[in-house]
Amino acid sequence: MHTDRNAALELDRQDTLAHLRVSFVLREGLIYLDGNSLGPMQACVRERVHNCLEKEWGQDLIASWNSAGWFLLPQAIGGKIAPLIGAGTYDVVVTDSTSVNLFKVLASAITLRPDRKVIVSERSNFPTDLYIAEGIAEFAERGHTLRLIDSVDELDDAIGDDVAVVMLTHVNYRSGAVHDMKKVTENVHAAGALMVWDLAHSAGALPVDLAAADADFAIGCGYKYLNGGPGAPAFVYVAPRLQKVAVQPLSGWYGHKAPFAFESSYDGAQSIDRFLTGTPPILSLVALDAALDIWNEVSLEDIRSKSKALSTLFIKLVEERCGGFGLTLASPRDAEARGSQASFTHDNAFAIMQALIARDVIGDFRAPDILRFGFTPLYVRFVDVFDAVEHLHDILQSGAWKQEKFNVRGTVT
Ligand SMILES: *Cc1c(COP(=O)(O)O)cnc(C)c1O
Repeated sequence: MHTDRNAALELDRQDTLAHLRVSFVLREGLIYLDGNSLGPMQACVRERVHNCLEKEWGQDLIASWNSAGWFLLPQAIGGKIAPLIGAGTYDVVVTDSTSVNLFKVLASAITLRPDRKVIVSERSNFPTDLYIAEGIAEFAERGHTLRLIDSVDELDDAIGDDVAVVMLTHVNYRSGAVHDMKKVTENVHAAGALMVWDLAHSAGALPVDLAAADADFAIGCGYKYLNGGPGAPAFVYVAPRLQKVAVQPLSGWYGHKAPFAFESSYDGAQSIDRFLTGTPPILSLVALDAALDIWNEVSLEDIRSKSKALSTLFIKLVEERCGGFGLTLASPRDAEARGSQASFTHDNAFAIMQALIARDVIGDFRAPDILRFGFTPLYVRFVDVFDAVEHLHDILQSGAWKQEKFNVRGTVT
């Protein structure tokens, strides 16, 4: 059936999550389809950071480590993320960046499998994941190598008894394709290896059940679907059964069992706390902490069903309205197999995205030829989807993207 603008508005009227949009600071006219890269700010975050600056730091100074709960924020925020990823309250901490946490868990994993020298991942994984794995392999200096597969179908052949760990991103950052976490983890365990999941594009985007999948380690971002702010601290999960045996090399004092005993030798905490390193960035932590409160009001099932409806509508409208302009769907057509995004390839993807951005339709470009659109059900409306496709159609129809100014590249794309 053909969807017109009124039909999109009607879908918004029926949307049980529609009331959440006002929590976000989004300027009038903006169509923000990039929450998978940097989530927008909520008004409560601004207030909380302001209070931290003025009262906690400004007035109470060092007392706030106790009185404002600063010291235990990494665990407290981990406890808020836990239900979003199917983890126990005390099995997640927020600390450092996704890249750094990946370093820690990969190092742990290879130490737990000392006779195995191979790390397996996917060639299409996010570059930092591959770079960190290369770094670990080189640094370990025990003959470790990184083995890359082109598709998860090759996994069974790639995991022999030489593989220590398999590290995959649950939702692919370019295509949005979702791995079957339970099945893959089972296969990896059957081969005697450990499983690390990167949840950068999963946490807050779709239900995840790390415990049911029996995953060994997981890491993920605070600034994408969790809306924690630019460069927000990341999270790390370690299966309870591994928390007392998994060691990590960044053995800083925050991971010590008694940081304030100031002992001269490291004795790691017998818990997830061992994955902490040094003094955390409190301003960034309080921003993430406040940003997460919205999840108390929503179920991930509702988020997922609206997310699928938004991206499905987008794909349908793009194909209806923009057929014949050289766009090709680069995401799975089956909504079940797709994360909270839809991507299309086009030879002129960069310039087209710049032209969209100039019209306040914000998606992003991913090299070499991908137009990527994120659909975040907390604040994206069905009418935004409709309007975004109309803009895309105008840009393609008029050739507006050919202008010189849309073909100049900045450092961050
Ligand atoms: C966004 C993203 C990262 C980012 O890592 P940082 O350390 O925060 O820069 C890592 N991995 C994946 C899969 C991502 O999508």
